[in-house]
Amino acid sequence: MFSRILIANRGEIALRVIRACREMNIESVVVYSEADKGAPYLSLADEAICIGPGPSKESYLNIPRIIAAAEVANVDAIHPGYGFLSERAEFAQVCRDCKIEFIGPSPEAMGRLGDKVACKIAAKEAGVPIFPGSPGAIEDEDEAAKIAEKIGYPVIIKAAAGGGGRGMRVCHNEAALRSNLRNASTEAKAAFGNGAVFIEKFLEHARHIEVQVLGDKHGNAVHLFERDCSMQRRHQKVIEEAPAPGVDRRKITALCESAAKLIREAHYAGAATVEFLMDKDQNFYMLEVNTRVQVEHPVTEQVTGVDIVKEQIRVAFGEKLSIRQEDVVVRGHAIECRINAEDPDKNFMPSPGLVARFEPPGGPGVRMDTHVVTGYTVPTNYDSMIGKLIVHAPTRREAIIRTERALREFRIEPIKTTIALHRRLMQNSAFQEGGIDIHFLERLLK
Ligand code: ADP
Repeated sequence: MFSRILIANRGEIALRVIRACREMNIESVVVYSEADKGAPYLSLADEAICIGPGPSKESYLNIPRIIAAAEVANVDAIHPGYGFLSERAEFAQVCRDCKIEFIGPSPEAMGRLGDKVACKIAAKEAGVPIFPGSPGAIEDEDEAAKIAEKIGYPVIIKAAAGGGGRGMRVCHNEAALRSNLRNASTEAKAAFGNGAVFIEKFLEHARHIEVQVLGDKHGNAVHLFERDCSMQRRHQKVIEEAPAPGVDRRKITALCESAAKLIREAHYAGAATVEFLMDKDQNFYMLEVNTRVQVEHPVTEQVTGVDIVKEQIRVAFGEKLSIRQEDVVVRGHAIECRINAEDPDKNFMPSPGLVARFEPPGGPGVRMDTHVVTGYTVPTNYDSMIGKLIVHAPTRREAIIRTERALREFRIEPIKTTIALHRRLMQNSAFQEGGIDIHFLERLLK
């Protein structure tokens, strides 16, 4: 097994990887920026190396500095976490050139599935259901107008290299489509370095359902069933749960099997998530594949008992997956609440600063993934997510009651957080009945 792993990330996911390494008897080396200096989780790694100033470009996104740290620390592998460099094929390639194992897919597999246009083509071949839309990137406006006419309005324009819910445009008619196409491509080029855009049918009422998959370097792939991530704000997930409430199990199992087939055929080794939207009639359409561990992976870990981060590490080393498909059983129900340092009363404005009081919940079925402790200061430089509360119980009903109980115990002061919003959701009868969709939160917050 690897003897030393460098973690090219920060916060709760860095701590998650440190914990996996410790349990596998692997030394961990964590990098940090000046803004994260002194953060308590750093001392839990075997070594911590400062790689530059607070702005991500000068630290967590700076490939030469991370590689230099990896070489100084003499590590065998790099775990990229999520966000930052985790989905950059270029970074995976640099790691390979430096003979450091990238804990994730090969740059080739990342290219096949990480680009939304390339991925759709691969998905179609693997029998994964995709959206009606342009077969590839759009070459000209007239062609796009013809396709939109055929699939029917509204349609959505997206960037092939897009992410983070940015740069998407919904068009209700041909005039809007034509004018938006011109800007969308220019914007995509500026934001993602790739101007390729495509269109697909826009679903007004949908649920976001995604499938967790794992592949190894021996041609094996399994799925760990689905998560429902319909509770979103501005296309960003707020609550995730597993299994998806009220969905036909036969349909979902077939969907999960097609997702595993997709990554097997792409010769993909590592963890991936195949994301779908589901319409009112429970038809599924693939959105994209995320070629990394997801924020919400613990939900799946709680219901399947599989440690996804450890599997990532084993597979990167060259071991076979430790589980066979027939061993994967979903037990009970899990819910994750993202705890963000934001003020829901001020349009979710970030609320960084000193955490004078931090009292996380505990008790049966409660898992807290966070790097925050009393006395920690939430820096202004990064994402506002400061932790995840994950609750497991025998049924969805009990999971909701337990989540509400845990949220009630949770004290974070004086910064503002999303705890109260989550409590309100757990008490909402429509949520309790499973009547969720991707616009649920938007309607509630209006
Ligand atoms: P990103 O990579 O930027 O996160 P995704 O393609 O994963 O973009 O979409 C993010 C979210 O945007 C989805 O969860 C959904 O809420 C919304 N969305 C994307 N495509 C569609 C569509 N065709 N119809 C309706 N909503 C969509």
